Amino acid sequence: MSLQLPYGIQADTLKHISEVERGLNCNCKCPSCGEPLIARKGKKTAHHFAHRQASNCDTATETALHLAAKEVLEAEKRIRLPDTEVTFNSFREPFRLCKSRELTFDRVWLEEPSGSMIPDVLIEKNDRELAIEIKVSHEVDQKKRQKARKQDLSVLEIDLSKFNRELSPDRLHDLVVEGLEYKSWSYNRRAQLYRDRLLQASRRKMIQETGMSMWVQDCPREYRSNGSGYYALVVDDCWHCRHCVHHDREEGIIYCAANQTTMAH
Ligand SMILES: [Zn+2]
Repeated sequence: MSLQLPYGIQADTLKHISEVERGLNCNCKCPSCGEPLIARKGKKTAHHFAHRQASNCDTATETALHLAAKEVLEAEKRIRLPDTEVTFNSFREPFRLCKSRELTFDRVWLEEPSGSMIPDVLIEKNDRELAIEIKVSHEVDQKKRQKARKQDLSVLEIDLSKFNRELSPDRLHDLVVEGLEYKSWSYNRRAQLYRDRLLQASRRKMIQETGMSMWVQDCPREYRSNGSGYYALVVDDCWHCRHCVHHDREEGIIYCAANQTTMAH
């Protein structure tokens, strides 16, 4: 079961279920559709709000958590960011570009357009923007990721979809500000820049096929040799090699950075 509605709007203020009276006395409206809410504060299930009348409003929890996260960030003006890593589509270990750090910022917006994107929360420091997506039901999809890349806007995802118990304001505060457990980069501009540069500086090696095996010629690591020189098997050698930056199956190309010792790490 997914997270039930933990926040309602009482006289223009976001209130957690723990802060209101039970039943209709809570005097709360749905943060999404504006209809009256009942505060369900029984003994059996986690306390939560429900629409007074049967409703097909299915964005209440999402909207409430966006609002709550924005309030937290607005009050704190800081957020801990996870490590920035460059990942590879092989068995190569990700390369850590930047350690986890705390970012302080000046401004926070809720669902404010940035180019062609409308991030859940947008923060800004010195004219540099960072988008924050609060995942409640669906994750940042491929299309959003492509937009982020096109726009070169870093997107941090905070995944709250796993919570099925009461999400207290203190817990939400921890998750949004300090916590790292549920944060990940959907798109990171520094990692992308690094990857782009690495790809540009790499040698493009055509993947050859002989029977069942795929291989590239002139392997600088000299993994294997035949009569005419050194070669490497794509799956057995390149995929485990610290110089293999990328393999593009459609193009049939291995990007080999063995000549770029300073960048390949
Ligand atoms: Zn509603």
